Amino acid sequence: MTGDVNDLDYLDGNAAAGPLSEFFSTDVVSARCRCASCGRTDALATARLSPNSHGLLLRCPGCTEILMRLVDTGDSVFLDLQGMSFVELRRG
Ligand SMILES: [Zn+2]
Repeated sequence: MTGDVNDLDYLDGNAAAGPLSEFFSTDVVSARCRCASCGRTDALATARLSPNSHGLLLRCPGCTEILMRLVDTGDSVFLDLQGMSFVELRRG
């Protein structure tokens, strides 16, 4: 069957290491993101930050929905980006 995902050639996730390292090594707060709830698109630096004992909570300045959660458990750090429909980093 044409288009069946099992028929496609693919690489494992290691092949994404280069592009992802570019993304995560930049000043992420200058990145633009779109709120998955209201669609507002702005720099992550404009988000409202609420630190708590487990990490950070960033909320949309437009609708106050959660854009991002960063939780530090000591052994691990978790990043939840469900509140964003995309993150854009501009080069240059
Ligand atoms: Zn919003």
